[in-house]
Amino acid sequence: MFESYKFTVTEKFLRYVQIDTQSNPDSPTHPSTDKQKTLSNLLANELKTMGITDAHSDEYGYVYATIPSNVNKNVPTVCFCSHVDTAPDCSGTNVKPIVHNGYNGSDIVLPDDSTQVLSINKYPYLKNHIGHDIITASGNTLLGADDKAGVAVIMDLANYLITHPEIKHGTIKILFTPDEEIGAGTAKLDLIKLGADVAYTLDGGEVGTLEDETFSADGVTITVNGVIAHPGYGKNKLVNAIKIVGEIAAALPANEWSPETTEKREGFVHPVQIEGIAEKASISFIIRDFETAKLAEYESRLKAIAEKVLANHPKATMTFEVKEQYRNMKEVLQHHPHITTYAEEAYKRAGLSVVKEPIRGGTDGSRLSFMGLPCPNLFTGMQAIHSKHEWIGVKDMEKAVETLVHLVQVWEERN
Ligand SMILES: [Zn+2]
Repeated sequence: MFESYKFTVTEKFLRYVQIDTQSNPDSPTHPSTDKQKTLSNLLANELKTMGITDAHSDEYGYVYATIPSNVNKNVPTVCFCSHVDTAPDCSGTNVKPIVHNGYNGSDIVLPDDSTQVLSINKYPYLKNHIGHDIITASGNTLLGADDKAGVAVIMDLANYLITHPEIKHGTIKILFTPDEEIGAGTAKLDLIKLGADVAYTLDGGEVGTLEDETFSADGVTITVNGVIAHPGYGKNKLVNAIKIVGEIAAALPANEWSPETTEKREGFVHPVQIEGIAEKASISFIIRDFETAKLAEYESRLKAIAEKVLANHPKATMTFEVKEQYRNMKEVLQHHPHITTYAEEAYKRAGLSVVKEPIRGGTDGSRLSFMGLPCPNLFTGMQAIHSKHEWIGVKDMEKAVETLVHLVQVWEERN
């Protein structure tokens, strides 16, 4: 099926990563940075050139496009989605992608900063790519495989379907979103306009991985009100909120319950910010677990720890505020198991064994699932994301395109 196909995914990928699309968590606008629209506009035009007539990007930087069904039956509308922005953690300006043809297994020193070295020791997955082409950045920036690999894979799927009308499929929707990296990827999404029944994000790592489970997530802020007095005359009066907040942080368990002591299916409570003055100070946490019910347990344990500290400072008061952030997509997807099993079937047809691992984080897919568009996450091959070491194997991206071509056919056959 693919022997004679000239994949376009790599050529597209190399062009897209050179466009700076970094998002900005401190910006109040949508998209958070205007430059993301440069890529969105380019993608919409490229889709149009392929013959996808309704392709367009909107004022918020979203790209919508439809590949019409080519069969006479009712197949659910399947959307493929990825994000155009790159992470604020690492520069995305002047990305210079380097293709290492036939990677030979030795260390790769990135030319613009020789202290940046990729080795098999550090990235064992490089071993799977010996003899194949891999792509890295040049040392000063991230590569942007997260998620331009997903974008390029979906664009090549479109190219494949347009040039292979014999492949039977239902209506396919293409969606590119801005600002995923700052948690705002669905902020201005028009689900009615999108008109999809199910979706898949292309935002995963190693070939064969399939993610249908994410953390459930809350945020907690504990605010302590002390008692202020002139420090020169504060004896037996002044109660310092900063010190109390410090005591709360120090009272957290040292060997459990934190990101640095947990893995796999274990949840955690993680202080992320302290701010304040002597009179009033606050400490903010992120609370994570795969079971949503556990979040409330963690929150009451955390509250008890804080109250115990406050008990030693009877004149101080505190407030404990919980904010829901996102929920495990499994809670939605378990009611639609075929969405995952069809993907598993497509992986098998592409010759892959399926690796299912829960994501210790969230994705646009978690939010989309709870907005009514059930949405697991599929692999693209991206590695060492959000860093100068970010890299990707060409054969993984091509395998992702192949998998999507199988997937649209599975949907057509089973409905
Ligand atoms: Zn991503």
